[in-house]
Amino acid sequence: MSDVMRPVWRTYDPRFEANAIAHVRAGGHAVMRAEPRWWLLLPSDEGMIPELTAWAMLDLGVKGFDEVESGPAAGLLRVMLPKRLREHVMDWCERDAQYETSMVAEALDCQQCAMCCRKNRVLLEPEDEERWTMAGRPELSTAAHVRESQGRRLLRVMRGGDCVHLSGNECSIYELRPDNCRAFPAGSEGCLSARAER
Ligand code: SF4
Ligand code: SF4
Repeated sequence: MSDVMRPVWRTYDPRFEANAIAHVRAGGHAVMRAEPRWWLLLPSDEGMIPELTAWAMLDLGVKGFDEVESGPAAGLLRVMLPKRLREHVMDWCERDAQYETSMVAEALDCQQCAMCCRKNRVLLEPEDEERWTMAGRPELSTAAHVRESQGRRLLRVMRGGDCVHLSGNECSIYELRPDNCRAFPAGSEGCLSARAER
């Protein structure tokens, strides 16, 4: 079991922007609601986007962002939020309303959980299959373990949605698991929503 610090989502009326900025400078994520436009105010550390912030943006599917150049929010990221994503971020704010801090420790034990190995879509990169060949495991690239969808190669899933390599709660190819499995961080929004489904 290990504690992962993750950002807390909070919603603000722009009249209270100073509070939002303090929250984001402390590592949190802020949803600014100014009709007709909503935007996110997110942390940045000297131009580097914190990993869980980057994954939240990926989860929302937002690609464009600006760095605020001047004023009290200088250096923070501003992401315009399309209307279709409002409900999604408000769900996160509602989930986090119980926390008073800007970051919260989540006690996560991947070996007890394995929820991101269920009902997922793991895209394979050419490097994954090269790694399997080099390791003398070419069978991992065959149709028993890999499926094709819209021109992409993915890990096969069992009936019910478990990854073909999941054994109990453990990955049977842990040392050889695909790069996309290695990159997925505990504490990300994808992780939290997978766990919420349990
Ligand atoms: S859902 Fe999160 S806690 Fe569970 S195994 Fe995946 S990364 Fe670990
Ligand atoms: S390869 Fe391993 S880590 Fe990746 S989804 Fe399957 S069981 Fe999980």
